[in-house]
Amino acid sequence: MRLILLLGALLGIPGVSAMDIIAHRGASGYLPEHTLESAILAHGQGADYIEQDLVLSKDNVPVVLHDIHLETVTDVEQRFPERARDDGRFYALDFTLAELKTLRVHERTDEKGVPVFPHRYQGNGLFRIATFEEQLTLIRELNRSRDKSVGFYPEIKSPKWHQQQGRDISAIVLAILRQHQLDDANAKIFVQCFDFAELKRWRQELGAKVKLVQLLGENDWQESDSDYDYLKSEQGLAEIASIAQGIGPWIEQLASFHQDGIELTGLMQRAKAKGLLVHPYTLRADQLPGQTSWAQMIQLLAEDLAVDGVFTDFSDKAKAAF
Ligand code: CA
Repeated sequence: MRLILLLGALLGIPGVSAMDIIAHRGASGYLPEHTLESAILAHGQGADYIEQDLVLSKDNVPVVLHDIHLETVTDVEQRFPERARDDGRFYALDFTLAELKTLRVHERTDEKGVPVFPHRYQGNGLFRIATFEEQLTLIRELNRSRDKSVGFYPEIKSPKWHQQQGRDISAIVLAILRQHQLDDANAKIFVQCFDFAELKRWRQELGAKVKLVQLLGENDWQESDSDYDYLKSEQGLAEIASIAQGIGPWIEQLASFHQDGIELTGLMQRAKAKGLLVHPYTLRADQLPGQTSWAQMIQLLAEDLAVDGVFTDFSDKAKAAF
């Protein structure tokens, strides 16, 4: 790959990259995350993969949303004020697809309505929630019309929570992948999940053939019951490698950022020794760790770590850099 990159650079071949650019929630640095418009822009910006976080609607349709809650990215609290649960939150699972389609999607805010990234898009472009199948069809058609081969990168969100609500999100998503001939180890798609028990279930119980990526968080995030300290160990990585093709660690699990420099943690080498691909998250031009510059991050990811891919809100800038 390195040689190809070098040859590509020498011969001036565009688009030959050593690293896969994964458009994190589409072109989320520029447009409200996970909308069709955000996916279209990411496609135009040269992403290699476009990510779809998935949760279920009341009528069991996988929709592209980062959270099981709706209020931080939609106007649900104005349109359906009486539909919050006792905890004051609005759950996608309590709304039919037809109802979800009436909501307007906006740039992400916190629970008080304050924009998380105030300098990003703040207009009202009449954006809507997209279904997983709408994104699959959109990207496939764009691949055809633009002569590209952009891949898919769906994430199964909160599978245990869905299970507790009586829903099997994994079985529903896998059925859709099979309808679209995407449950295939050779197809340009990775399925990702933070929950290791669920990812094992995809391979062992549901018989999935598609490439799988284990996401790694920190145990105190309470993202799932998985023990990420164990999963980052040699034994844990070996167990991941028995069912999955890669890991998706937080960048700060690969390197720690200090006043006086950047130190590699060794996770990259341990993962490579098990034959795993490494796709860290999230490269943000407007939110870099510590005192790190964009150029330092590029150097770190491309040269010092030599990761296989990166999740980024800025596919255009990443594509230009790698
Ligand atoms: Ca995600």
